[in-house]
Formats: sequence, structure tokens, C-alpha cells
Amino acid sequence: MKFDTKVVRSGIEPDPSTGAIVPPIYQSATYVLDEVGKDKGYDYTRASNPTREVLENNLAALDNGKYGICFSSGMAAVDSVMKLFNSGDHVICSDDVYGGVSRLYNNLLVNYDLTFTYVNSSDPKAVENAIQKNTKLIWIETPTNPLLKVTDLKKVGEIAKKFGVLYGVDSTFSTPALLRPLDFGADITMHSTTKYLSGHNQIIGGVLITNDEGLNEKIKFIQKTVGAVPSPFDCWLTLLGIKTLSLRMARHCENAQFIAEYLESHSKVERVTYPGLLSHPQHDIAKDQMSGYSGMISMELKGGIPAGISLMNNLELCSLAESLGAVETMITHPATMTHADVPKGERLARGLTDGLVRLSVGIEDKEDIMKDLDKALK
Ligand code: PLP
Repeated sequence: MKFDTKVVRSGIEPDPSTGAIVPPIYQSATYVLDEVGKDKGYDYTRASNPTREVLENNLAALDNGKYGICFSSGMAAVDSVMKLFNSGDHVICSDDVYGGVSRLYNNLLVNYDLTFTYVNSSDPKAVENAIQKNTKLIWIETPTNPLLKVTDLKKVGEIAKKFGVLYGVDSTFSTPALLRPLDFGADITMHSTTKYLSGHNQIIGGVLITNDEGLNEKIKFIQKTVGAVPSPFDCWLTLLGIKTLSLRMARHCENAQFIAEYLESHSKVERVTYPGLLSHPQHDIAKDQMSGYSGMISMELKGGIPAGISLMNNLELCSLAESLGAVETMITHPATMTHADVPKGERLARGLTDGLVRLSVGIEDKEDIMKDLDKALK
């Protein structure tokens, strides 16, 4: 099946007991056994659930993986990856990783004697130079949140292979509609399904996808042992959202390209970062490995914080909100919102300036989004 067909069909069969075309919400904690030792494939929903299983199979297929393992949030998925390791292990991570991930690493996991090195993964040499004897994981985010740095996944995959290190990619911003990291050598692809995959600002969720049977068994064990699983209803809503993933991503890409070009030519904007612009430092890599540039734009306004606050407070259509990847256009100020927990010195060193604004371009009419920005910029 081609991708657009997989989105609607993969892993989704008519319900065996009724023929329902939409997978039912199996809102049941437990399942009755036929006799001792004989169940129908399910015993307790923390371990497995029919609605969740449909979602897991669908998500795995979209990323060209064999196994999907769903979690109650993107962060629960990231945390579950970390439970594969032991104290004394070392992790290399993209320096512009989502603030929640660096908070997990720096504020919690260091207490378990795990160590972390942050590198600009757009430079594969920097990744290779950071390898230590005890390095067990390379964790890449591409494009990153919020600076939209792009990593050459094939090159980093070769480094991971050469040193026998597990290779995980947070592909939340790209979605399987635009990029499939397993095809570039990743061992694990991760998504916050909260974002584009569900797409409608209705649920919090996450997924890990792999082709490796042993890794799948270990992660499934972590999933059932820790229990950070999504509810059947959230799985059902996510499945509903995924049906239109291809259509939505095409519109997100079209609108974001239009808005990025408009902003780049605006006299009040200092700098625009969007992988689809020729001015993006890794535009060529993005062009090679992605089939579109997604809906995320970051920009620096002339006039720093006051200009940023004025813009955000004067928008009417674009919503001032933390999240991203949904049908509504949303705007965020990373310094005071998503990355507020990153210490100021570290934040500035990572290029997250006070005047940085992140835009998640929705699927509304692009002229309306532009007019709203234009009025607020004035
Ligand atoms: N990864 C990226 C790139 C994100 O943007 C986010 C959330 O914004 C996460 C992971 C965490 O996902 P969640 O909020 O579903 O826990």
C-alpha cells in the first residue's frame, strides 16, 4: 500500500464481532478467561487493549516499522526508552532537543547516574566526537523544537552503527507523512502523538516504533510494567485524527511555506527559520530526506521581547498556546513558555533568545493567517 492508503487502512480491520468499520472503544480494564490459562489474547488493559492494538499497528505501518508501542504521552515514551539503560551509561542528544526531554535528563535521570552530552547534531562529526566507551544511545530530534535544526539521519545512523550504539529519533515535527527515520537506520522512531498525528488538540499521547523484535519485547515489558498507557478513548481519537494525516500535512506544509516567505520579507522581522526556505542552513538535507517541511516556523523579531509580546498580544486568529501540530495556528514564546525550565544561561547558549517566537501554522486559509500576522506586526 502507498502511504496515503496506509493512513486510512493499515492495521484497521472491521471489528470481528460486529463488522463495525470504525474500531470500537474497548473501555474495559480486564477480560474474562474461557478457562484457567486460556484467554482471547487479552487479560488486563495495562498489558494490552484491542483499541490500543489497532493504533499501535497503524502507527507502526506508517513509519515502515513492525512494532508500535503506545504511551500516555510523548514524554512517557521518551522515559521508557531510558529504562532500557543502566546506571553508568552515557547518552548523546541533539542540543536543541524539546525542553521536556532535557528536563527529564538533567533533573531526574542524572540521579540514576546516567550522563548526557548535548551536541549540535546537524554536524555529524560533533556526534562522532562525543562518543565515549559507555555511550549507549544517540537521541536525535529533527527538525528540533524550537530552532528547527535538521540532522542528516543517514550520516548519524552510520556513526551509531559503527560504534554499536542504539539510535533513536524523535520525529514529532516531521510525522511519517514527511519522514520515516527507520528507513535511514534508526532503531527507534518516537512521536508525541499529541501533535500532528492526532492533530486536533484533543489528546496527550506518545509512541515508539521499531523493527527489532528484541527491542519490541523489552519496550513492551517496560510499557506493561510502568503502566504509562493511553486510554482506549484517547487511542480511538488518535486513530480518528490519523485518517486525515496526509491531507492535513499537505496543507500545513503549503501554509507554512507561504507564511515563512511572507515573514522573511517583512521589515519588522530579523530572521525566519523554516526548513523549506533556501536560507535555512540545512535546507538541502531537509530536501533530501523529507517529502515536505512541515508546519513549524521560528522567527526573531526586531525589537526583542517588547516586540514579541506586542505581536502575541495583538493576534486575533493565531492562538497564544503551548502546543503545536494541530489544525489551529498557534504561537508560542519559548523563553517564557515551553523552555521556561531551561536555565537562562543554558537557554541563551543554545540560541533560544528572549525574542524568539515559534509559530505552528495550522490549516486555516493561509491569507487569513497572513492578515492576522500582518495586522499584529503593524
Ligand atoms: N518531543 C517533541 C519534539 C515535542 O515537541 C514534545 C512536546 O511538545 C514532546 C516530545 C513531548 O510530548 P508530550 O507533550 O506528548 O509528552
